[in-house]
Amino acid sequence: MYLADYHMHSKYSFDGSEELDTICQTAIRRGLSEIAITDHMDIYTGLPYDEQMNFEVPGGEQYHMDVSGLYGGLVQMKEKYAGQLKVRIGAELGQPQVNPEAAALFIRDYGDVLDFVIGSIHNMEKDLDVYYYDFTKIDVAKMYDHYVDWLLKLSEMGDFDVMGHLTYPLRYMFERNQLRLDLRPYEEKFRQLFKNLTEKGRGIELNVSGYYKAMQDAMPPMSILKLYRECGGEIITIGSDAHKAEYIGFYQKEAHEMLETVGFRYLTVFEHRKPEFIKL
Ligand SMILES: [Zn+2]
Ligand SMILES: [Zn+2]
Repeated sequence: MYLADYHMHSKYSFDGSEELDTICQTAIRRGLSEIAITDHMDIYTGLPYDEQMNFEVPGGEQYHMDVSGLYGGLVQMKEKYAGQLKVRIGAELGQPQVNPEAAALFIRDYGDVLDFVIGSIHNMEKDLDVYYYDFTKIDVAKMYDHYVDWLLKLSEMGDFDVMGHLTYPLRYMFERNQLRLDLRPYEEKFRQLFKNLTEKGRGIELNVSGYYKAMQDAMPPMSILKLYRECGGEIITIGSDAHKAEYIGFYQKEAHEMLETVGFRYLTVFEHRKPEFIKL
């Protein structure tokens, strides 16, 4: 079984702490063949992207992303672990559609080193991360419908390879307020989303971080994963979304089984933004 964890964060992300070297060594120890380190590049409304690397994390702490340190370090890791582990240089680009100029500049400036880009939605109106919502005070069904509209918008534009954690709000809804959501009413929108993605040669990820959190479900869950496959979806990566070394490679074997169960025959990996298909 070819193990490739395609979503994780290092100390260069505002919410990460691990050294690049620790990540690579952990991956090798766990028998992974390949990893993509995908530190956050969240795009905010109305700011040039290089100013977006300095911001105040809610709670008051000032954060600075050392982008050249990150990508320089990753190039070193590629060389250091060649023959033992394929290290892919990734990015998790957050809501690029709010500021397409900034997103395009980022891709232009780092396009020659990037192997893989996840397009994610974390923040919606007023650049507020869904993480900070008070789900007890809002209509969660409406909120998620709105989130899917943001995904649709992202699928129509943006330069990325796979769409990240399609059911991101559900993780926090359950974690904080034990709220679950019936996803059947969103089926038509998901069909449109998958049509947009497959037409542009893009895919989705199977994000398994929910299994080491209270949610105990995948993002997206099996029903939506199955729908993606039925809609002709082929490009699929598996990601632990690890922010700590202990979760690197988490749930890989189970994720392979999930993909096989809904009819996938190949796992996708990327080099220089080009997909390669590996038999499950
Ligand atoms: Zn994310
Ligand atoms: Zn992430």
